[in-house]
Amino acid sequence: MSTAAAKYHFASDNTSGICPEAWQAMAEANAGYQPSYGADAITAAACESFRQFFETDCEVFFVFNGTSANSLSLASLCQSYHSVICSDVAHVETDECGAPEFFSNGSKLLLAKSSLGKLDPTDVERLITHRTDLHYPRPRALSLSQSTELGSTYRPGEIAGLCQVAKQHGVHVHMDGARFFNALAALGCKPADITWKAGVDVLCCGGTKLGMAVTEAVVFFNRDLARDFEYRCKQAGQLCSKMRFISAQWLRILSDDTWRKHANSANHLARKLADGLGHLPGVQILYPVDANAVFARLPESIKTGLKERGWIFYSFIGGGSRLMCSWATTEADVQAFLADAQACL
Ligand SMILES: *Cc1c(COP(=O)(O)O)cnc(C)c1O
Repeated sequence: MSTAAAKYHFASDNTSGICPEAWQAMAEANAGYQPSYGADAITAAACESFRQFFETDCEVFFVFNGTSANSLSLASLCQSYHSVICSDVAHVETDECGAPEFFSNGSKLLLAKSSLGKLDPTDVERLITHRTDLHYPRPRALSLSQSTELGSTYRPGEIAGLCQVAKQHGVHVHMDGARFFNALAALGCKPADITWKAGVDVLCCGGTKLGMAVTEAVVFFNRDLARDFEYRCKQAGQLCSKMRFISAQWLRILSDDTWRKHANSANHLARKLADGLGHLPGVQILYPVDANAVFARLPESIKTGLKERGWIFYSFIGGGSRLMCSWATTEADVQAFLADAQACL
């Protein structure tokens, strides 16, 4: 049994491949010659489609990954002596190797405790106000993850409440949206309602985990903060010369609700997986399954048995075992995982 082939289906939402729509868009962009570094017509159209999607005149930049999107956008909100308030489980804190501090030349992350991965306005305000002397790095940005690292989502009113506290104190709001579309599909609201209308200044909009190849979009709703951002991207090695292959994917994903189809499918199967696991004796589903992540405390027999049967998943995030669904996850994958879990009992 130890020779079972490794199965990465639920290990992360970036273990899947590239969705057919994104792949096809790249193939279609692969004809003839185009201006480089984003000066092409496809990139202009993709940026325009973001403005329509969010119903506002935002500034849009494309980078290769989430770490750079977060780090470079936070750096544009802060001076080196500023600080960024984020949750203790935030990706910017736990999984970016100090890149936000590095690219901002030292802006310190201030950790707020979170509940189900979400920040609380009272805690945030306490962190902003408890020191105002010049010996302390001044809070200048608040970073929210949507959906959160623990699979929960912020409701529009919760985002507005946090942004209101931030704005009162001159603090800008950054949203880590590596799984923005999963949250958006789950909430069923308009993109504007959980971003600029609630007070978000800049969104890092995740493409890779949704099913695209190597891209995240940095969307500035507050255009003043986007000043010189293209220079930051270039200096950080994040300016793609054949940009059209990235922008063609965005154009396609946003144009015909492809994002919604993939996000809904991942969210739906995550709930199925959680329901099935939750019925097994000894299994505890740890957090509400708002989007495409399931966190479960599995009895040792199930955890070991699943790993022996080849299933790969992380057991160090969020105090349990984490199972992620993506655009590529199928009903059959979920059934196979559940059958194996059942067989471990
Ligand atoms: C995956 C992820 C990112 C992006 O990570 P990269 O590996 O740098 O693309 C950012 N934030 C969150 C919450 C994530 O889950």
